[in-house]
Amino acid sequence: MKFFLLGLLFVTSAFASNDLSHRPKSFLTSSGKAVFVDFTTADYTINYDITSRRAVATAMIKFFAPEAGMPIFDSYADPSFVVLNGQNVSSFSTKTPGRETTLRVVNQNVAVGNHTLSVTVPLTTLVDYVDGGVKSAFWASDLDDRRFLERYMPANFEFDQVKMTLTLNFLGAKTIQNVYTNGVVEEVKAGTYKINYPAHYTSSSIFFHTTPASSVVETRYSLKSIDGREIPVVIYVTKSASAATALDQMKAAATDVFQELERDYGAWPHPSLTIYNAGSGGMEYCGATMTSVSAVGHEMFHSYFARGVMPANGNTGWLDEALASWRDKGYQSISVLSGTSMMSNRLYYTRHTDYSAYSFGERFMSYMDNKLSSKGGLKPFMRHMVENRRFAPLFVEEFIQEMSQFYGVSLEDDFKKYTFGTKNKFDYNKSMQTVPHMHQKLSLEQLQELL
Ligand SMILES: [Zn+2]
Repeated sequence: MKFFLLGLLFVTSAFASNDLSHRPKSFLTSSGKAVFVDFTTADYTINYDITSRRAVATAMIKFFAPEAGMPIFDSYADPSFVVLNGQNVSSFSTKTPGRETTLRVVNQNVAVGNHTLSVTVPLTTLVDYVDGGVKSAFWASDLDDRRFLERYMPANFEFDQVKMTLTLNFLGAKTIQNVYTNGVVEEVKAGTYKINYPAHYTSSSIFFHTTPASSVVETRYSLKSIDGREIPVVIYVTKSASAATALDQMKAAATDVFQELERDYGAWPHPSLTIYNAGSGGMEYCGATMTSVSAVGHEMFHSYFARGVMPANGNTGWLDEALASWRDKGYQSISVLSGTSMMSNRLYYTRHTDYSAYSFGERFMSYMDNKLSSKGGLKPFMRHMVENRRFAPLFVEEFIQEMSQFYGVSLEDDFKKYTFGTKNKFDYNKSMQTVPHMHQKLSLEQLQELL
């Protein structure tokens, strides 16, 4: 027991130190100093009042402030209540110094140390009341600002690993609700569910979708991992005449991809696999995706790179899109690369990924693979990263350092030349296009269709 506890403490502090070393810098606002803090736990409750067609989300957050100042959090929706250490307080939204993103600041200074923050927001985005129940999802995107968990509930920036729980109360539901998520779901009592998520999750990790059971069809089976585990899989699709075919097609595709990825990068990094065959769109989560048959390879790859080896900020996210696109195009090698990009070098607080990742980023990886071909190319290093650096958000600078160490040669100049430029300047030509394009930018109306 003692050893177990020690192990647990070590794991907790490992997350905390990674969080603190990846925390963005504080900055001055007209009201005082805004500081990024380390969320340690966040317990969320959503009450879906199906009769009155309203939903409210409350976050109970425990955080550590490593410096004094006004704590930063984010929520796309205006909070209706903010309570800091038991006191009602206000918050305001502000742009970061370079105006690259918007966030919220609690209008109250805290001292260095542990604090509690409770934030209540209305949940109206991607919520639809149908058939005596509710459809609700946290569809995310890394191609636009403020499109992770903060779009739906109060959350921190992507650098922060937070032990999260989510309790769902379906009040007045006249139907059975299915809950699809990449955490452990427990039905506490009729109409109430509690979900526990792994402690390494960040604001970009959670897949969450609830829908009346009558509106979907699902298949459940397991895949045998190379490490001996039986990985439980659920694939589901909206009910239609072609649903059975859609499930079969996805099952075949996902099984092929699972085996391919395990061959290349080792055992599936997550305890389960959840796939919503939405037929369009496409986004990755930890061991889960909303996708189509043609994009499922790309999205499952992201369970290794993006939601396995995780980016700590928007200037790092291009790595996983470039690597995924490199795979999509058949792992090409090229000896010449012209042009440059600023994929690693956008404004400091940028949260989303540069679009060039799919085109120039893919070419850059093809170029690096060729450059390192005498040492086996890029794949051995990718496998090394999955084994050694997964579930700890990192900066692009750390990726470069790790890569240079792995190959025993400095690769800094290549990354500088091609990814730390001051603009994106390269020829878009047919060979550079990544087809099919995996992450379409979807409007809220389009996302609503995928509930
Ligand atoms: Zn992608």
